[in-house]
Amino acid sequence: MGKIVETFGKVIQDECDKNPSAARKLLLAGYHAQNLRWKTVPGKRVSKAAQLASVETMNSMIAPLAHAGRAAMVSLFTPCELLQVAGLHPYSCEGFGCFLSGTHAERAFLQHAENEGLPETFCSYHKVFIGAAEKGLMPKPRFIINTTLACDANLLTFRRLADFFGVKQYVIDVPYGQDEEAVQYVAEQLRGMKAFIEAETGEKIDEGKLAKAVGRSQRSMDNFRRFMALSANKQQMATVTDQMFSAFMLHNLLGTEGAERFTVQCLKTVKNAPAAKGKRLLWMHTIPYWVAPLREVLDYNEAVQVVGCDMSFEGLIQGDTADPYRAMAQRVVYSAFNGPVQRRIDRGLEAARELKADGVIWFCHWGCKHTLGGAQIAKQKFEAAGYPCLILDGDGCDRSHGGEGQMATRVEAFIEMLGGEQV
Ligand code: SF4
Repeated sequence: MGKIVETFGKVIQDECDKNPSAARKLLLAGYHAQNLRWKTVPGKRVSKAAQLASVETMNSMIAPLAHAGRAAMVSLFTPCELLQVAGLHPYSCEGFGCFLSGTHAERAFLQHAENEGLPETFCSYHKVFIGAAEKGLMPKPRFIINTTLACDANLLTFRRLADFFGVKQYVIDVPYGQDEEAVQYVAEQLRGMKAFIEAETGEKIDEGKLAKAVGRSQRSMDNFRRFMALSANKQQMATVTDQMFSAFMLHNLLGTEGAERFTVQCLKTVKNAPAAKGKRLLWMHTIPYWVAPLREVLDYNEAVQVVGCDMSFEGLIQGDTADPYRAMAQRVVYSAFNGPVQRRIDRGLEAARELKADGVIWFCHWGCKHTLGGAQIAKQKFEAAGYPCLILDGDGCDRSHGGEGQMATRVEAFIEMLGGEQV
C-alpha cells in the first residue's frame, strides 16, 4: 500500500505542474477511493470510533475539493459552526497539510513555498498548504476566516492567501487574557463573523440551527471528557493516526452530527475495552503519523499506548450554550494554546493525572516556536510532577527532515526507561 500511495503522491505533484485542476480531480478521486476503503474494509483492529473519525475527516477534505464554490478556508482553531449552518465547507491549513503529507504529495509544495521566499524554518503545515494553494491544487475559497490562535504563522499565511486568491479575509483576534472581557470581545467578533458570511454569501444564517450546532459541540466535548475519565483504567488499542483524526473531529468538525457520533462511539469503545495494560504515553502537540518506524512502535501495541494527545483535549470547556456566540468564544479564549506555554503544560499535567500516564512526549515540530520555546520548561514541570518527559524533535509533515529511524529509537529507549517491555 505504501508504494501505491507514494506513486500517487508523485503523480499529483507532477500533474499539478501541468494542469492543476486535473491534479485536484485526481486527488479527489484518490480521497474518494481511500474513504470507500475505510468505510467498507476498515481493518480488523480498527474501532468503530476510529473508523468514524477517519471517514468523517476524509469527508471534510473531499467536500471543499468537490464543491469549490462553497469552500471556505479556515485555521484549525476557527469555530466552524456558523460555516456548517451556512452549508459551507471549511478546509483548514493544518488539515490539508496533514493529508497532503499522508498522500506523499508534500515535497513539491514545500519547495514552491520556499522558492517563493518562505523561510525554511516556517511551519511545514503552512508551507505545504501555501504551496498547494499557490500551485492551484487547492480550490479558490469564497473567503478566508482565521483566528490568531495559536501561532504567528496564521498572520502570514492567511493574509498572503487572501491576496493571492483576491478574496476577503476575516480575522478573529483572540487576546491572551482568559477572562470575561476577552470572551465578550471574541463573542462580538463571532457575531461579526456571522454578518461577514451573510454578506459574502447573500444568505441568512438560521440562529436556531446555530444554537443546535453549538449544543452538539458542547455535548461532543462533554462526551470526550467522560471518555478521557473512563480511559484511565482501560487499554487503548489505536494508531497514532487515530489521534490526529480525533484532533480534527474536536476542532473544525466540532458542531457536526458526525463529531457527536464519534464521541458517543468513543464512550462505547472505552466501556467495552479491556483493563489497562502496558505503558501509557501522553503526547503533547501534533503527531508525526507519517513516520513508519514510529507507527511500528506505537500502533496497536499492548506494551505501549498513546492514551491522549493535547491536540484533542486542549479546547474542551464547559461553555455557556444559552448564548452560542459566548460558547464559541469561550472555546478559543480558554484554549490551552492561547497565551503562555504554561497553560498547555498545566492542561497536560491535568490530563497526565487523569489518564494515569507513565510518561510524556513533548513533540517539537520543526518551526513551531511556541512548542520549541516551551520544551525545557515543559520537561522540568512534567518531571517535577513525576512524569518522565521526552523531548522529541521532528517534523509533522515534511519528510525531507528525515530522522524517522532515530525518532522511533528514541521513543523505544524512552519506553524502556519507563520500565516497559521490549516493543
Ligand atoms: S505546528 Fe505550531 S507553528 Fe505550525 S500551525 Fe501548529 S502551532 Fe502553528
